[in-house]
Amino acid sequence: MQIQFYNVIADELRGSSNVHTVPDPRTEEELWPCPIATNADFEDAVKAAQAAFETWSQTTVAERQALLVKLAEVLKDNADDLASILSRESGKSKILANIDVGAAIAQSLYYSKTALEDEVQFEDDNVKVVATHFPIGVVGAICPWNFPLILSNIKVVSALVTGNCVIVKPSPFTPYAVMKWVELSRGIFPPGVFQVLNGGADLGALMTSHPGIGKISFTGTIATGKRVMASCAKTLKKVTLELAGNDACIVLPDADLDKTVPSVASGGFFNAGQVCVASKRIYVHESIYAEFLDRLVKEVEAGYAIKEDLTAPSVFGPVDNKMQYDIVKGIIEDCKKNGYNIVTGGKTDSVTGKGFWLPPTIVSNPPEDSLLVQEEQFGPVLPILSWSDEDDVIKRANLSNAGLGASVYSSNLKEAERVARRLEAGSVWINQSERPNFGAFFSGVKDSGFGGEMGKQGLLSYSYTKCLHIPKN
Ligand code: NAD
Repeated sequence: MQIQFYNVIADELRGSSNVHTVPDPRTEEELWPCPIATNADFEDAVKAAQAAFETWSQTTVAERQALLVKLAEVLKDNADDLASILSRESGKSKILANIDVGAAIAQSLYYSKTALEDEVQFEDDNVKVVATHFPIGVVGAICPWNFPLILSNIKVVSALVTGNCVIVKPSPFTPYAVMKWVELSRGIFPPGVFQVLNGGADLGALMTSHPGIGKISFTGTIATGKRVMASCAKTLKKVTLELAGNDACIVLPDADLDKTVPSVASGGFFNAGQVCVASKRIYVHESIYAEFLDRLVKEVEAGYAIKEDLTAPSVFGPVDNKMQYDIVKGIIEDCKKNGYNIVTGGKTDSVTGKGFWLPPTIVSNPPEDSLLVQEEQFGPVLPILSWSDEDDVIKRANLSNAGLGASVYSSNLKEAERVARRLEAGSVWINQSERPNFGAFFSGVKDSGFGGEMGKQGLLSYSYTKCLHIPKN
């Protein structure tokens, strides 16, 4: 595969006189030149999408779903190359990069069989009211860096199956695999239906303010999400925000520690904690706290050690980029400065001499109002907190500024479900670490989001709903 990257506008490949490179997070070696889209490129992409929408919006669901199968085939046929590019730009091991590609294939195939249908909303002797759905127009998909293909793909396939055109903007920290995927997908859809532009905050801001874009689907931080929503308000764009989480994990006194400890370790340290729904605050009942902590430290030291070799079968890796590396280091330094009990890890100076590596770090019982507990760490440092009273732990778990996911562990499923129902989060997992399912609606409550996507329900945010009032006589 040729290692060159392009913006894709109306199925044409476009370079740019303005390029940037991204460092490999494992080694800090600069990767390939990547063209930054100009304002003119963006205007051309919007015009191409608007023109394509005229006919694309008139296609049937079945026609569009057949093309999603082809989109999945492109991912399948190029899975190895795409995973290689993705692992270089994100620092993920090959195993993790394969998960990114594999989930994107699964999501595409899911929507090749799932779509919105008309629904009778009311019927009596006089009238039948049928709700039907139609596309919004041009969707702008603004994406983060932690799962570049999965998180771009979900927006792309949701937009396309509902009859919209889509312009996808990957994170400038991880542009390569997404740009290559769109390039390889040329010819599947009419030109202008599926396009990609590389750029940062400036391009994102253009997308959110342009009147030619009808909807923005954004995934990223809460701070940027607020900017996106404010900008979208000026043209009353539809907007979906998938934002940061600070997931609480509650371990009940009867949890089976043989199963719970490995699952919690994975919840906190899979992809070095860079998962929106990673377990970010672990609340363990005081009666099992000491044993749990001891076992968790052993599990993490054995299973999440730093492995510099890209091909090592590890689900742990470096922090993706320098910006996030500095944020996570700052949180660990704050723990040290305040004398919190770091039971494993904690080193913030270079562990390998190069790259953005931080060892998995566990902090025992930091105060509830500490930075580590109150703010999303989005990296490999995890607070383990003890609790004794259920009402108290629920209050601590339910933050005022986040509510994306949560998890509960117990040997008694009924008890676990009862506790899960008390948690204020968009998704709660029982006896498993937080892993979104493409068939399940995914959304954050409070500051963690606005609307949601995935599952059949997720398609509603990519569509207008129209009610047809049909008289009976
Ligand atoms: P970010 O907010 O820094 O950037 C996200 C995207 O927004 C990037 O493409 C960026 O270029 C763009 N952007 C930046 N400024 C913009 C502006 N003013 N207008 C429009 N676009 C702009 O987030 P990030 O660091 O890339 O992602 C990490 C965050 O994403 C974490 O907080 C994580 O929890 C969250 N996340 C949430 C989910 C979810 O589904 N809820 C999934 C993955 C990640």
